[in-house]
Amino acid sequence: MLTCALTGETYALTDRRWKSEAGGLLDLVFDQPFDPEEVKTRAANLWRYREALPLDPGGPVVACGETITPLVELDIAGRKVPVKLDYLFPTGSYKDRGAAILMSHARHLGIKRVVQDSSGNAGCAIAAYAARAGIACDIYVPADTSPAKLLQIERYGATLHRVPGSRADTAKAAQAAAAHHYYASHVWQPLFFHGTKTFAYELAEQLDWQLPDTVVLPAGNGTSLLGAYRGFREMKSWGITQHVPRLVGIQAARCAPLLRAWQSGDPIRVHPAQPTLAEGIAIDRPMRGEQMLEAVRQTGGAFLAVEEALIIEMLNLLNHQGQYIEPTSAAVLAGLRRYLDELAAPDEQVLSVLTGHGLKSTGKLMKLAKGGE
Ligand SMILES: *Cc1c(COP(=O)(O)O)cnc(C)c1O
Repeated sequence: MLTCALTGETYALTDRRWKSEAGGLLDLVFDQPFDPEEVKTRAANLWRYREALPLDPGGPVVACGETITPLVELDIAGRKVPVKLDYLFPTGSYKDRGAAILMSHARHLGIKRVVQDSSGNAGCAIAAYAARAGIACDIYVPADTSPAKLLQIERYGATLHRVPGSRADTAKAAQAAAAHHYYASHVWQPLFFHGTKTFAYELAEQLDWQLPDTVVLPAGNGTSLLGAYRGFREMKSWGITQHVPRLVGIQAARCAPLLRAWQSGDPIRVHPAQPTLAEGIAIDRPMRGEQMLEAVRQTGGAFLAVEEALIIEMLNLLNHQGQYIEPTSAAVLAGLRRYLDELAAPDEQVLSVLTGHGLKSTGKLMKLAKGGE
């Protein structure tokens, strides 16, 4: 059942809407456990948790070859920190978790065409899974999106619409098209978050259901943070795990509306974002920002922001440990580093994630190599 966050009004899950009558965000109430003993016997991918996914049990599964992503120990600030390699998905980012579930649902509904707006990786993921599902796809992007991501979206066969102006102008253009077609938004469609929650399931299973104290995650639109929060809470309520880890959300200092709201206690305000290497989390108007603040508050976590110099330092450090990732992912581990230096207890178990592949940011990485930004 879809529920309006403003009015509590409800709609059937088969309703094709993306917002409520009142214009509010929709959340999806669905709470079915998986059996930890049963999932062990299944193939190593997110579909092993299928009982906990809000999909029709007999319905189509749109898969592009997802795997359980590895958990490796990296050397950060003199500690060994387990990091989950979520950039190793078919399209090169963890957005595939959400796209796989959302496109399976779209396929089940018999949808012929979807529209979406993205500044990059979410567009790639929706385009790929739409292609796999045989669904036509229009992706709206800001005119200045990374060329490698635009190419990737087009290679999947999606129609690309470059929109001049701000990220908000791009969203407006996509939402106008969504009057006629299904809006496969990673921000508005609550199904997407029931895909990204599988990060928490996999992590818990990889750790034999013993979760760490703290998980450090990106904080852009919250697809990763809110998904993880949902997954952690579900497993605790089912008695599969003992606690919900503290969630620490990382922003770029050049675009940090959530950190500002967190520190001041004021509502989230839109500031003109300055360009940052961490393009994947440079969201100046996070639609689910209030939900993100609440999730972090509920877990006793924090928000931190990182400067460009530290992002570059961490990018070098991670590349030199064999991880070729995009600068946005380096920003998250830069935040992890700050957390370890400033807030973590000596024996606190802290864990993080790498979200996007470096091959997507070749242009930016080449500029960096030449000494520019
Ligand atoms: C989308 C994205 C993020 C974070 O965005 P959220 O919606 O806050 O999870 C982080 N890194 C990469 C590479 C991304 O594509």
